[in-house]
Amino acid sequence: MSQPNIWEVWTAPSTVPVKTILVTGGSGLLGKAIEQALLAGESRDDERWVFVNSKEADLKDRLAVKRLFEKVNPTHVIHLAALVGGLFRNLGNNLDFLRTNMAINDNVLQTSFEQGVQKVISCLSTCVFPDKITYPMEESMLHNGPPHPSNFGFSHAKRILDIENRAYNLQGGGIFTAIIPTNVFGPHDNFNIEDGHMVAGLIHKAYLAKKNKTELTVWGSGLPRRQFIYSRDMAKIFIWALREYEDVEPIMATVGEDEEFSIRETADMIVKAMNFTGPVRFDTSRSDGQFRKTSSNAKLLKHLPGFQYTPTQQALQETCDWFNDNYGLARK
Ligand code: NAP
Ligand code: GDP
Repeated sequence: MSQPNIWEVWTAPSTVPVKTILVTGGSGLLGKAIEQALLAGESRDDERWVFVNSKEADLKDRLAVKRLFEKVNPTHVIHLAALVGGLFRNLGNNLDFLRTNMAINDNVLQTSFEQGVQKVISCLSTCVFPDKITYPMEESMLHNGPPHPSNFGFSHAKRILDIENRAYNLQGGGIFTAIIPTNVFGPHDNFNIEDGHMVAGLIHKAYLAKKNKTELTVWGSGLPRRQFIYSRDMAKIFIWALREYEDVEPIMATVGEDEEFSIRETADMIVKAMNFTGPVRFDTSRSDGQFRKTSSNAKLLKHLPGFQYTPTQQALQETCDWFNDNYGLARK
């Protein structure tokens, strides 16, 4: 079944919606998770959710963005679309990450401003924080020093997004704010081995190693540490923020500091979930990237006390099961 370029989740189309929410990047990891959460019961009758991919509108093109906004007439925007990639895609393409994401973000924010959109929730990332910093990282530290050199293009584009949010607010715009996720994974991720993030890449590599009875190669030393959040948990946070979060200051979306794993430990969990029994090798000729980016979830838990995270091994199992069941459809 082919995926449409624009699609809606609206439980009561006979009513007049109070909110029309445009989700850019609707076909990606986070966009699909939000769609699935709404379909699973999180939708509200007075909300019309409109999801789009890049074929509906190339957001690098200001005119295409204007046309999209005129067609959808959003009151709210969840802005997810971006040129996204793991460490190895960033390493060789800093200029593309900088220019593409600056263009997309500027077009979406300026058009939202011109059209009087009430709230825009964009996406930063914990990987855009300074490389030399005290841990755990908090929201206020975003601009306190240069980012890691591996992804400086992506990082500066995302940091400018935060600056634009603040400037639009001062200049009479709506609530333009951002969520700062840690590493996200889940169904519908980009499972391309060279371009994707670590979890998706390793799941794909484990799938092939199992099928071809070869060893599984993990890149780098396995020593760097990461916090991971399941896309289904992220979807709940985005939907909550859309409805309740009224602050221009960004908010981190991460698991607790005690839920940080080394790449080696994460690879072990993936090996278990994929039921891979062959040898695992670490290729230390490949980069380790940032050593850690341990982030605080204190602000999130202040707003959402008792937020129930999916346990990481369970979330990895669900993601591996999805990949095994949807190998033909998955982006890779
Ligand atoms: P993803 O799976 O790679 O999806 C990217 C989405 O952006 C797709 O829907 C894609 O549309 C769209 N897009 C890309 N270029 C576009 C363009 N020129 N015009 C219109 N749409 C375009 O990304 P994701 O992982 O869901 O990431 C969503 C957001 O979360 C991004 O802002 C990312 O920086 C942020 N984030 C992600 C992570 C993570 O670990 N994944 C962590 C922190 C923050 P097509 O399908 O048509 O290509
Ligand atoms: P990051 O968290 O922003 O650095 O991005 P990634 O999700 O790409 O994670 C990179 C870390 O995972 C580095 O320490 C890599 O050496 C390690 N890694 C191990 N195997 C893989 C793999 O197959 N793909 C990717 N992208 N990273 C891997």
